[in-house]
Amino acid sequence: MKIHNFSAGPCVLPATVYQQASEAVLNYQNSGLSILEISHRSSEFIAILEEARQLVLKLLSLDATQYTALFLQGSASMEFLRVPLNLLQTKAAYIDTGTWSSKAIKEAKGLGEVVEVASSRDRNYTYIPSDYELGTHLDYLHFTSNNTIYGTQFVEIPQVEIPLVCDMSSDIFSRKLDFSQFDLIYAGVQKNIGPAGLSLVVVKNEILGKTTRAIPSIMDYQQHINHGNLYHTANVFGVYACLLNLRWLNDLGGIEVIERMNNEKASLLYRTIDGLDYIKGIADQKYRSKMNVTFDFEAAGLKELFDIYCRDANIVNIQGHRSVGGYRASLYNALPIESVEVLVQVLEQVKHKS
Ligand SMILES: *Cc1c(COP(=O)(O)O)cnc(C)c1O
Repeated sequence: MKIHNFSAGPCVLPATVYQQASEAVLNYQNSGLSILEISHRSSEFIAILEEARQLVLKLLSLDATQYTALFLQGSASMEFLRVPLNLLQTKAAYIDTGTWSSKAIKEAKGLGEVVEVASSRDRNYTYIPSDYELGTHLDYLHFTSNNTIYGTQFVEIPQVEIPLVCDMSSDIFSRKLDFSQFDLIYAGVQKNIGPAGLSLVVVKNEILGKTTRAIPSIMDYQQHINHGNLYHTANVFGVYACLLNLRWLNDLGGIEVIERMNNEKASLLYRTIDGLDYIKGIADQKYRSKMNVTFDFEAAGLKELFDIYCRDANIVNIQGHRSVGGYRASLYNALPIESVEVLVQVLEQVKHKS
């Protein structure tokens, strides 16, 4: 039975990744050992880790002499704290575009002065603020490129003269950008990279070492870099599953190819939503996300009908976040267009009863 999983995260990964990961659990590359029992210091794992770190930089077209990729235990929420610990000397600017940005701001406030330069809170984060001015003496600007909960996405990346830090948890590897405009990118891996439990951090080496604060070792990016990303026991299986996913993307043709596929999925779904008068999109058209599509029905009765049709069509995890309501279809890299086609049929099916 084919299930169409529109979960916002953890989310669907490529079927080949499930297959290869399960084989490695039983017997990693005919070693007679499970991936779950090999040492994080073994040559097998070091090869996995190094290939994964290199693939990250290759897929993002970043210079390996200037940037370092790290797989760290924790999650994006851990980076909310690690970022200011490592980069905030006196004052930093944050753009507030929803729950995740707000949480990042909260953590930074404990470590220095935080200037919230713009917020879309006034309309429950249904848009991306573009009218703001940065002050002076700022250590960095932090923003969230894709707002998973509300279905909004930065179309244009802020152009600034100070270090640019981005929480790219829910749209990394989904669209082509000039990634060298960022000084630090982080992401919880459970959306476009792998299974939950890790964060990916891509940092421009030159921005580290500028604070005078004593950073606890495990929170210190430089410590992780100095130890070759093996400061402590790695999440061996998690990194391996991330590698499988990165290989899948690379073999497909990289970000350029996946972006075309993502555009096709998102435009099919938005076209459908715009074309049906009993459905409304939640986010402003100009800023709507290609990863998370939020929508609702005009009449409550149609929701019940839609829920039943979804169940019959094996569509799962499409309910909206509790702070927004309605529905949210997440169209991450590994979600096949066939799943979107099934969803479109179900949305149109509701019409016949409305
Ligand atoms: C999911 C998500 C987070 C939180 O990730 P955790 O790994 O649960 O800490 C942070 N930011 C964004 C944009 C997200 O989508």
